[in-house]
Parts: sequence; C-alpha cells; structure tokens
Amino acid sequence: MSAAATSGEAPLYRVAVRALCDFTAREGDLDLRFTPSPSAREGIAGHALVAGRRGERYERELALSGHYRGLAVSGRADGFDPALNRLEEIKTHRGDLSRMPANQRTLHWAQVKVYGALLCAERGLASLTLALVYFDIGSERETLLTEKASATELSAFFEAQCERFLSWAEQEAGHRQARDTALAGLSFPHAEFRPGQRELAESVYKAAATGRCLLAQAPTGIGKTVATLFPTLKAMPRRRIDRLAFLTMKTPGRRLALEALARLGAASDCGEDGEGRLPLRVLELTARSKACEHPDKACHGDACPLAAGFYDKLPAARQAAAERGWLDREALREVALEHDVCPYYLGQELARWSDVCVGDVNHYFDVSALLHGLAQANGWRLALLVDEAHNLVERARGMYSGELDQHAFATLHRSAPAPLVKPLGRLMRQWQALVREQGGADEGQRGRPAYQVLDDLPGRLVGALQQVATAIGDYLAEHPGGADPVLQERLFDALGFGRLAESFGEHSLCDLSRHGRGRAVLGLRNLIPADFLAPRFAQAHSCVLFSATLSPAHYHRDLLGLPDDCVWQSVASPFRSDQLEVRIPGGISTRLRDREASLEPIVAELAGQYRRQPGLYLAFFSSFAYMAAAAERLARLHPELPHWCQTRGMREDERDAFLARFRAGGQGIGFAVLGGAFGEGIDLPGERLIGAFIATLGLPPFDPFNETLKARLEARFGSGDAYAYRIPGLIKVIQAAGRVIRSPEDRGTLVLMDDRFQRAEVRRLFPDWWQLG
Ligand code: SF4
Repeated sequence: MSAAATSGEAPLYRVAVRALCDFTAREGDLDLRFTPSPSAREGIAGHALVAGRRGERYERELALSGHYRGLAVSGRADGFDPALNRLEEIKTHRGDLSRMPANQRTLHWAQVKVYGALLCAERGLASLTLALVYFDIGSERETLLTEKASATELSAFFEAQCERFLSWAEQEAGHRQARDTALAGLSFPHAEFRPGQRELAESVYKAAATGRCLLAQAPTGIGKTVATLFPTLKAMPRRRIDRLAFLTMKTPGRRLALEALARLGAASDCGEDGEGRLPLRVLELTARSKACEHPDKACHGDACPLAAGFYDKLPAARQAAAERGWLDREALREVALEHDVCPYYLGQELARWSDVCVGDVNHYFDVSALLHGLAQANGWRLALLVDEAHNLVERARGMYSGELDQHAFATLHRSAPAPLVKPLGRLMRQWQALVREQGGADEGQRGRPAYQVLDDLPGRLVGALQQVATAIGDYLAEHPGGADPVLQERLFDALGFGRLAESFGEHSLCDLSRHGRGRAVLGLRNLIPADFLAPRFAQAHSCVLFSATLSPAHYHRDLLGLPDDCVWQSVASPFRSDQLEVRIPGGISTRLRDREASLEPIVAELAGQYRRQPGLYLAFFSSFAYMAAAAERLARLHPELPHWCQTRGMREDERDAFLARFRAGGQGIGFAVLGGAFGEGIDLPGERLIGAFIATLGLPPFDPFNETLKARLEARFGSGDAYAYRIPGLIKVIQAAGRVIRSPEDRGTLVLMDDRFQRAEVRRLFPDWWQLG
C-alpha cells in the first residue's frame, strides 16, 4: 500500500473507508432490532464532547488517504491523540453496549484498522494504539476498547480488505466504462421529437452539462419523461456524472420513468438474450411496507428468515443483481428471493451500485433520505430529475412537519413499564399545563377542534418529551427481545418531533388543536421548505424540476430554495386556443357565504352545457360537502342527467370504477374534489372527457393556520396573499383543467364558475394558450 502523496497515477477506482468496510467487513444477520440510534445532532454533539475532553494537541477529523493496486481509499478518522499515539473512532450509542450485535463491533474495528493503516503509512509510524470510543448519549460516559497494532499488521489488514474489494472495483470500473461509452452513443428512442420535446431536451442537457438547476414547465403530451431522461443520460459520460435519480410524487410516475428507460434500451428483455441491452443499472426504490415479505415480523435474524445471514448471502445476491442490471420491483424481488435475502434491504444496498434510481421524492429530500446520504458519503455527482414538481412544495412541507398526540402518550402512561412511568408522568403534566395556559374550551365551535397557533415552541413540554424518548430508548435497548410495537411507535413520534423541534425556526409554526378533554395534538408544521431544501439542491450536481404547471417560477424558486442561477423555461404548448373553449359565466360566487345561492346557477350551467353537447365531463368543487350539495341539486332538478361522485378515501378499485365510466361513447358528469385523486395524473383523451366545470378557485381555507402562513410568506417574500392562497389554488385549477386537452387532436370546454376568475391577477396565472370566450 502507499499513502496518497506517493502515487501519481490516476486510480482505477475510488472508495471511501466506510464504504470499503461496509463491503468487506459485514457478516452475519441483518439486525435492526430496535436499538434507537442517536440523532445526527446528538451524534455531532457527542463527538464534540468527547473531542473536547481530549488534550490540546488532539487532532480531530483527520483526512487520510492511500492507494492499493489502483484503488484509492480515503476518509476522515475521528481523532488522533499524538501524546498517546492513539487513533480513535468515536461511536455514539444509547443503553447497554453489550447488546450491540457482534457484527457491528467487527465493522467498527475494521474502520479504525483501515484508518490506522493509512495513518501509519502517511506519518511513517511503526505502531499505533487503536481505540473504539463508545459514547453513551444518555449517561455521557465513554467505554474505551483499545488494541495495539503494528504498522505491518495494519498494512496487511488494509491490503486484505482492498483485495476483497478489488475484483468488485474492477468490475465497477469496467461497468462504468461500458456504461459511459454506450451512453455517449445513445440515440433518441423515437423517429422524431414531438413539438416542444426537443426544446425541453436541449435545456435539460444544458442543465446537466453545466451543473445547473432548471425549472421547466412543459405541457402534457410532449413526452417529458423521455425528454428529461435521454439528455441527462447523454450528459453523464461527458460530465462524469455518477448517478441519476428520477424522483416522482406517486407510483404511476415511477412506472412511466421505467417504461421510458426500457424504451431507451435499459430493460433486461431488450435485444436477443439481453444482447445489445444498454449497460445501465436501473433500480426502482420502493417503500419498506411495499417490499417487505414478512410484514408480521421484525427485521432481525431471529424473527425474519430473510434477515438471517443476510450479510453472508449478500455478496452473491449483489453480484447477481448487478449482472441483471434492470431491477424494477419485480426483478429485485426475484433476485432477493433466489438468494434468500430481504428485497427491501437488498434494494438499499443496490442503491449504492445503480446508475439510475427511480424513486419517490422523499428518497432525496426527506430528513434522512437514502440517496442524499449516499451521495454525500460517497462524493457522488448526482443528477436529479423531479417529475410533477408542482407538488414538491406541499410534499416537502409534509417531510418537515410532525404531530404529537396527547391521548396516545396518556394511553402509554397508563400501561407503561415501571421505568417509564415517571418520565411519562412529567410529560403528561406538561401537556396539561400547556392546554391550561392556552385556555379556552377543549373543543371549538360546532364540534370542530379548538385551534391555536402558538407564539413559540412549548420548551418545557419538548424537554419532557426528550426525557421520555431517552427513557423509552434506554428501556428498549435493555429489553430488545420483547419490544412492544406501541412503545416503538411512541419513541418514533418523540424522536421525530424532537428532531423537528431542534431545527424549529421562522420556516415553521407550532400549533395546538384540541379535539376534546385530554385529546390535544401539538403540531410542528413547515411553512417554508426552502430552508431545508436549499442545501439539498446545492449539493446535487444538477437538478431539473418539471411539470405542466410551474408558473409563476418565482413561487417555486422562493419556496423550494432553488439556487440563484436556476434557469426557467416554459415550453410553448402545442395546443391551440381553438381546441379549448374557456368560459367564465357571470353571477356565480363560490365564496363560503354564497355557496347555497350558487348551487342553482352551477347546476344550470352543468345541465345547459350537457344539453348543448352531451358527453363526458368532470365537475370539481372545493369540498366533499359542497360537491354533495351540488350533486343532490342536480339529481333533483335534472334527474335524467347521469352523474357519479367521488367519495372520501376511495380504495384503488373504487377509483378505477369511477374512471371506468369515462369510456368512449359514455355520457354523464363525474363529480370530484379539486386537488384530490381525479384533479391530476389521470389521462382521458378524446371523447373520454370533453369538458370540465371548476366551481372553486382552489383557495386554501381562510383560517389561523393559513393566515399565519400568509404573514410569514409576506414577511419573507413580500407575497403573502399570492403565495399562501392564490397561486397554490390556481395550480390546482390549471392541473384539473389540464385533464380536458391531452393531444393536439382533442377538443373541449372549460367552465370556470366563480366571478373571481375574471380578476386580472387571477387571469395572469392562466396558461398563455387559453382564450376566454
Ligand atoms: S422481509 Fe420484512 S421483516 Fe424481513 S428483513 Fe425484510 S423488511 Fe424486515
């Protein structure tokens, strides 16, 4: 082996110390028996505390690197004490250390030994003391495990690890070369581009090639998925992009991306016997709940057969999966079951080695997102493609929001094991104090929960919650076998809420809803996701956010925290204004106070249009109650007119049945709620939908939450009303209206039923190609 400084040759393959050891030094069972790991912040604080206890000459965060036969290995060791000649690897934990699975300890030793080898080589040391410092977050006590090692022993260990990794590294380097050669010669999978498609593809290529962010609005039907995937893949070899993540809001989006990748030649059934298949590894990432084969079991070798010996079986499974290349959900499951390992955790492993990951937006943007973590740990150049990006503001708000339920903790308090009774008792007293301080009734008017936005975080309650989390964590660490799922759930609640509380600020609000005595809910709700997302965008090599409805660009730039040099592109619609008749009948107001009076004119519009042109229509309303009232009035006044309604929480088969009525030659009106299951993501071309009625501006309700949101957005961006109400409402309206015209051959009618649609500030947000009749 040699230290980095001594090697002038370009390495065949670069690998981080952690990744190397993860690959070579893991063995035995997968064991996620619940031993709650400290949060990132706790981990950082723990490391700082330990380092602070060391002497002045203690060296923290040592950057170390070395080479072995074309392999470049680098990483940061936690600390070196030159006085003691001791290299330390600090691990924070909670509870009894003897419960830590042996294979985890082996992994930690492997890491410190590799760092030790690099340090000896770099500084010419003959020997070292290696130390694993286990720091207990709860007691702040250190447990020190030490071992003396000579430079020769460490070098031999390092070389053995590298040897075990080398054939994989050679395979990876070969794959990368083949992949990049193939991508450089990749051709567009269709004979020609559709109108607007080339324009979009060119901008996407530029974004990937220049490492920029692109916000691209492009109409339905131009083939956005392939127009974003193709140029990004083409840019990968030229810009040495390591990975591509295609992120979607819902499962159907993932399917579309996989279909486009298959058309580009990446699927396993491309070419004869897979010959001629694009050498591109594609992985579909799914949620654990969807991929788990034993939902009734826990993720450890004693409970789940697919966790037993997981790491021993992993090398063969990983090799088979890598050779297969195309790993959609079904293929991944097949490989996993052939090798008797868990498909979900095999997928997590394969995310390290796949060129393209197709997953949900939370795989990159969530608090502890897999792809973000891997990109950071491995220094990847990662290109992001985000589909249906108009939903990202809301999705991201959800990722950085959480709730705490008083009743759930009270129930646990009544049946808690003895060591938890006291901390839970303290928490319950803080709940009562908070509810008392906020005063007022337990319920608001007409059975609605009483709702208050709090001025600040209730610090004492959050403090008591942290103590509860520590106590449950310690208890579960002491009793790992019989972990009560309710206890685990409350721990997740407490840890999740605690993490949000740690980063609480102007970007979020804290609120209290009371649903009756002892049934309060404390919420931490993100309002401005930009504060969390901006670093994620900055860390990605490039990012393309695309959708049919991204106007106005400044709304998304501001709320998502897009970089200043983010490029905006609006691809002209291939649709002509004569394809869509847009009408705003006068005299209809859907404001809350006018709803009753609006029913008759709305129903008259529906019936009039239907009489003039029978066929299939969708009618959108702001709520189920409003929708039901309108449907009831239609049934009473026009019983001959067929109609059917969306219901709350429809199952998939019920949604399919609703949509099945939209078949060519059918007739009637489907009633739906704006922003719900039928407002976007459904494709009803031609006769299957000839018009839409929209009886709402999609405005969020005027309530204390939205008024606080408006005030914060006004203070930050000077656009309170537009950002809190008008723009998100209109995005939903335009999405719903977008169901009518799906291709240049379609014709249809759009009736916007509220006089406010006539206002200039609202009409400014309409697509350019709409022409009001
Ligand atoms: S199959 Fe399910 S229970 Fe078993 S390890 Fe995988 S996710 Fe856990």
